[in-house]
Amino acid sequence: MNILINTKDLIESIPSDVTLVAVSKTKSVEEITQSYEAGQRIFGENKIQEMAQKWESLPKDIAWHMIGHVQTNKVKYMAHFIDLIHGVDSSKLLKEIQKQALKHNRIIRCLIQIRIAEEESKFGLPQDQLTELLEDTKTLTNVEIVGLMGMASFTENINQITEEFKSLQHLFDKTKQTFKNLEILSMGMSGDYHIAIQCGSNMIRVGSKIFGARNY
Ligand SMILES: *Cc1c(COP(=O)(O)O)cnc(C)c1O
Repeated sequence: MNILINTKDLIESIPSDVTLVAVSKTKSVEEITQSYEAGQRIFGENKIQEMAQKWESLPKDIAWHMIGHVQTNKVKYMAHFIDLIHGVDSSKLLKEIQKQALKHNRIIRCLIQIRIAEEESKFGLPQDQLTELLEDTKTLTNVEIVGLMGMASFTENINQITEEFKSLQHLFDKTKQTFKNLEILSMGMSGDYHIAIQCGSNMIRVGSKIFGARNY
């Protein structure tokens, strides 16, 4: 595993209008530093406390993205530094983010996670509830909803993955006409980011292709 070369190769191989989030969950500060030295400045984590520790140890020009499920009572541990929260799926959570953002006099950017996978998944908002959630949260002064995020089913079936990504692309294009702040479409991981980009993704979240497999 050469993390520096993997990072460079990936950055060079994707279109310039697609943003790479290097998913560094479970990986060490030393490993993240190798990717940083290749020029990478956006890292994604799925545990808030782990991310906060890494934020403290690493250069402050890194933008940290929370890509996992967020528990309401943990928002306070990242509100002072988080750049983008990908996994927002309820107005209850948005209200807590608003409260914590206000405390730090910041505006926190969020993506709404939409449930697109056919397989059973606990997380993500059903597609037909998006407009209502966006209307509900228009009044939140310290939260900015800048896009949507989705995860396809864990399957080898390329047609199914494509259909799931396309359904989110369709929802994104449609909703953007009314909610002009939506500009980020976060979809695609190591196994499916090629498909995701073809389906309009402009932000991919790639972990194992850069850092190697994770041992939990
Ligand atoms: C872990 C994770 C990724 C990265 O997965 P890889 O297959 O290692 O690229 C992307 N998105 C989310 C939400 C994740 O939890």
